[in-house]
Formats: sequence, structure tokens, C-alpha cells
Amino acid sequence: MNRILVAGAGPVGLTAALALARRGLPVTVLETGDDLAAESRASTFHPPTLEMLDDLGVAAELHERGLISPTFAYRDRRAGLVAMLDLGLLTGDTRYPYRVQCEQSKLTPILRDHLLRFPDCGIEYGWPVADVVERAAGTVTAIAADGRALDGEWLIGADGAHSAVRRALGVDFAGITYPERFLVASVHDELTDWMDGLAAVNYVYDPVEWCVLLRTPDHWRVLLPTPDGTPDEVEYARLGSRLLGVHDPGREWRIAHASMYRVHQRVAATFRLGRVLLAGDAAHVNNPLGGLGMNSGIHDAVAYASALASGSDLLISEAAESRRRIALEYVQSVSHQNYERMRNADPIARDAHLAGLRDMAADPVKARAALLKSSMIASLRPVAA
Ligand SMILES: Cc1cc2nc3c(=O)[nH]c(=O)nc-3n(C[C@H](O)[C@H](O)[C@H](O)COP(=O)(O)OP(=O)(O)OC[C@H]3O[C@@H](n4cnc5c(N)ncnc54)[C@H](O)[C@@H]3O)c2cc1C
Repeated sequence: MNRILVAGAGPVGLTAALALARRGLPVTVLETGDDLAAESRASTFHPPTLEMLDDLGVAAELHERGLISPTFAYRDRRAGLVAMLDLGLLTGDTRYPYRVQCEQSKLTPILRDHLLRFPDCGIEYGWPVADVVERAAGTVTAIAADGRALDGEWLIGADGAHSAVRRALGVDFAGITYPERFLVASVHDELTDWMDGLAAVNYVYDPVEWCVLLRTPDHWRVLLPTPDGTPDEVEYARLGSRLLGVHDPGREWRIAHASMYRVHQRVAATFRLGRVLLAGDAAHVNNPLGGLGMNSGIHDAVAYASALASGSDLLISEAAESRRRIALEYVQSVSHQNYERMRNADPIARDAHLAGLRDMAADPVKARAALLKSSMIASLRPVAA
């Protein structure tokens, strides 16, 4: 028996399942929902993630559904465009010197369809993992809320930020919760008709009303910080006027939908306990600034699949430790830095930072170094200067 169980059919669980299936291992994905989640959350795929998805045979379909975004921009709420970075500078570093903008809900069906081509692999919907136990040597058992049980040799907990697997193991999930919530509005308006110098991803700095403007294949999305403690309906009611503050076209913006998120920075105390590995949001969560959450979760999934296929206990432990180190030292620190910089209220520090961004964008050596970091390449492999 060498079946591997994966809890959660999100982008991370399905990537892990497909990567294992392609290495000849039988996999069962246990998903609490009746179908894949349709919620629109992550929308940026970074170059190394595209390389991994290419290795799994799904990058071409993602490209068909997404938008290639060769640049991203830093803007200031009042001054407009500050700096435009061109990922083309990474041509020698990656076969994908750009981001792909595409909702994660478009990737998961692609992963599922590829997974189901493997006869020994499947997805069990309506299967909420409630507990995980090791009752016999070499076996881990997933137990559903209604008592159903399934054995595997290993289990990957990719069941999201509220992971039942992580809770069942009693693994601590220490970190912080941001004081504000994040409001994400998708709009039918074409922002390039209104603003000059927009890239598909724009980080807009401001001490109070910082925001992110993102293009997805279907919509522009605006991510706005929103105070804690106010009723949701009040925040939704004032969204229209806040959008007019981003740009006033002389009429209301056409809002397609909006949702509010509480955002945390947390990392599990360990990513491996016995025969269970934690991946994606079950293992680490961070703010969405920089688009690192799903991407780093996909990187966890690929690293685990390779280690599990090796059959080496040592390599499996090393993969878990290495992914935890990257979550702590890279993902948490870069995403929190992005948050602090975008809302910096000290005018001197802020002007110095914006000047530094302009200087960096104008210097290809500095720009490449910054891009290696923001594209996540530097989190995965040594990079030559
Ligand atoms: C507004 C917003 C924007 C974002 N933008 C980006 C971005 O641009 N780039 C980026 O990299 N990240 C981004 N993220 C983060 C990204 O959405 C998450 O990191 C990503 O969804 C994590 O994937 P996952 O598969 O680990 O978890 P999830 O996507 O949460 O999937 C978990 C799956 O497990 C299932 N499940 C839950 N509990 C159980 C259980 N007990 N048993 C079985 N199944 C279970 C769920 O139904 C779900 O299908 C963003 C997040 C938000 C909120």
C-alpha cells in the first residue's frame, strides 16, 4: 500500500496530487466541498510557478485562460506612476520572464482534469477530514466527521488556512492578524481608459488609502485596506465613493462583486509530523501583497511530491524543513515589507523609498536583483549576480 492522501482540492492539494500521480504514485484527494471552490482569490502566477506547472503539463492551458503580464508597476496615489519593472530582464533566469494573471479557480479544474487521467488517482468530494491518526506502522488514517476512514502511507494537509489536519495534529500556528481587513472589488470598468502607465499589477502607495490595482482575464480588481470594527455593510456602502477616490471618471464605477478578508501572517510550528506534511495555507498564510501565498503553496506541493517519490525519510524531512524556512525567511518577510512600505506615513522615509524605486527601475542590474526576489526565483535557487 503506497497510496498518498491529500486533504483539500485547492490549488496546492491538486498540484501535489498531480505531481505525485505523474511520478506513478496512487493518490486520493479528500475534499470537503461538493465541487472545486469557485471563489476568486489568487490571480498572479510567478515565473518559477509557471515552470513547475509546465513540468506538470498544465502551463499551456493556464496561459490560454490567463493574461501574460510582462511588467508590474509601483504608483503613488497622488503622483501616479513611480516605476515600471520589466520582467524581461529575467530572460536569462527563467523560461517564463513574466507573470500570468489568472484566477486560481481557473487553474484548479485544469489540475483536476489532468489528475483524473491517472487510473489510480481520484477525488472524493463531500469528505471533510476531521482527524488524522497513525494507528499502524507505516500508515496514516484520515477520519471524516461521520466516522468514515481511509488509510494512506502519507497524508498531505492542504486543507487551507483553517486546516483541520493542522488542528488534529495540535500544531501551533503562531503569527499576527493585521489590524485592518482587505476589501477586494472586481469591476467591469477598463482602468487603462482612465489612467496612464498602468501595468496588469500596480502597487499604489499611500499612507491611508494605499491599494492594489490588478488585471485578471475577466475584470480589474481593486484591493483596499478597510478598518477593523466597522460593520461590513457600512464598508460595502462606501466602496463606491472610495473607488471614486482612486479615480473619478465622472460617474460611478461599475462594481461586479466585492468581498472582505481578514489577513494574517502565520507559520505552522512544523510542516511535518510523523506521516503528515502540511502545505499551502494549512502551513503558512500571509497578506496578498506580492502574490506569494498560492505560489509558495504550489512550491511546497512540488517539493513534497519529489521528496515523497524518492521514498527517503530524510529527504521528506528536509523538504518540510526547507519549505518552512522559506515561508519564514522569504514569504513572511517580503509580504510584510510590502505592506509596511505601501502604507508608510513618514514623508521622508516614503520619498526616499519612492526615489529608490525609481533609481532601481532605471538600473538594469538593480532591477534584475529586485525582480529575482519579487518573482520568487531567489527563494528557490541560488542566483548569479
Ligand atoms: C484576496 C486574496 C488575493 C490573493 N491573491 C494571491 C495572489 O495573487 N497570489 C498568490 O500566490 N496568493 C494569493 N492569495 C492567497 C491564495 O488565495 C491562497 O494562498 C491559496 O488559496 C492557498 O491554496 P490552498 O490550496 O493551500 O488552500 P485553499 O485554496 O484554501 O484550498 C483548500 C481546500 O481544502 C478544502 N478543505 C477545507 N477544509 C477541509 C477539510 N477539513 N477536509 C477536506 N478538505 C478541506 C477547501 O474546500 C478547499 O478546496 C490571495 C488571497 C486572497 C484572500
